[in-house]
Amino acid sequence: MEIHGKRRRSTREVIEMHSRSRARAAAQPPFATITEKCERCGHGVQVGVQQGWRYGLRWSMSFHCRHCGRAYEADGKGSAPDDIRAAILQTGGTWDLVVPDGAASKTCIAKALRKALNLDLSQAAALLRKIPGVVTSGTEAEMRWLSQLVCAECGVGVVVVRSKSSSS
Ligand SMILES: [Zn+2]
Repeated sequence: MEIHGKRRRSTREVIEMHSRSRARAAAQPPFATITEKCERCGHGVQVGVQQGWRYGLRWSMSFHCRHCGRAYEADGKGSAPDDIRAAILQTGGTWDLVVPDGAASKTCIAKALRKALNLDLSQAAALLRKIPGVVTSGTEAEMRWLSQLVCAECGVGVVVVRSKSSSS
């Protein structure tokens, strides 16, 4: 998966966020939180983080410091930065993408996933060998995004389930 930058968000990201998807992001409650220090006053703040998949895989974050009033929002496309992803996994658990037994279009599914996950040939071959069964795991949003993509490209359903090995 494509990893987008460090979480120290640039001004550009913040401006993009404000101009583009503020209303949409604001409509969703924060899914998970990360505790950070406010850059202006040094108090601990809860940064709300979330992922979405319906318009492509995205992540977003926002906070408002109740001590000094500093606020910001940022978002990005693709896989979330590591600490945001870790917080979402901790809150929401790990989810599996399952290709059911007897699913037609194995090659189409493997091809669609290869493209989405940026896999090289050997990784794609390994994924193909996992069919039928759990082909990949991650956050719920990541798996639903992949499932939606496979459905659109191959016309077959794959299943998203809470991972049995999920610790939370
Ligand atoms: Zn502050």
